[in-house]
Amino acid sequence: MGKVYLVGGGPGDPDLLTMKSYRLLQSADVVLYDALVNKDILRITKPDCLKIYVGKRDSRHTLPQEEINELLYRFARVYDKIVRLKGGDPFVFGRGGEEFVFLRERGVEVEVVPGTTSAVAGPSSALIPITHRGIASSFAVITGHPNRGINWADFVKVDTLIILMGVKNRQKIARELIDAGRDPDQPVAFVEKATTPEQREVFTTLRELFENPPEVETPAVMVVGKVVEIGQMVLKELPISSKL
Ligand code: SAH
Repeated sequence: MGKVYLVGGGPGDPDLLTMKSYRLLQSADVVLYDALVNKDILRITKPDCLKIYVGKRDSRHTLPQEEINELLYRFARVYDKIVRLKGGDPFVFGRGGEEFVFLRERGVEVEVVPGTTSAVAGPSSALIPITHRGIASSFAVITGHPNRGINWADFVKVDTLIILMGVKNRQKIARELIDAGRDPDQPVAFVEKATTPEQREVFTTLRELFENPPEVETPAVMVVGKVVEIGQMVLKELPISSKL
């Protein structure tokens, strides 16, 4: 029986891969990868490595999760080193936990290799500090997927909100946060395609997002909170202390 590595491929820039992920990719017999993985990363693999796309993006599922689990199990019975490569960190909205449990229950050795999550790399690559002394001392990472039943009122008092998979649902999220008591003037940023050459930031406010939502391309990390202003000021080279 081979070993399966649940590897975090980082947010996009191949240079943000960990040394450990890099080494595992170099020696893998099989790599199963997702849509959000930067395809340049796959060049690290050896020439005879089997590379299989099992990616899902929103509703365009290529393979249902059960089939991915089954595939991993079958490969583990044939090959030595199987890398399950996911965008960001495998255990942040990546269903890595499900794959881990499925394989362990069947006696397969599994190792988790953490990666840099877009939840953190997204804002920081847009110069938005998710915590900042005197301004933000807490943050939450939340799914914005429409059918996850998030109670947005639970997060009103968290200083910085980091929302993944929230682009489609952005207008509704803004309304729910305002209804729950969050300041409508609070700034919001979307960081599209973070850490790639196509990275782009869209700045708005909760009110504007609710009344007249700007265009945003996926994938994007949504950030809500005062710290967003710091990013904007840094970009415009304004003194930070003058406004906050
Ligand atoms: N495991 C991943 C998250 C998977 S959920 C991680 O740790 O990063 C998918 C969501 O992640 C997307 O909807 C988007 O919100 C975010 N995302 C992933 N890569 C991104 C990138 N390069 N730029 C912006 N958002 C990204």
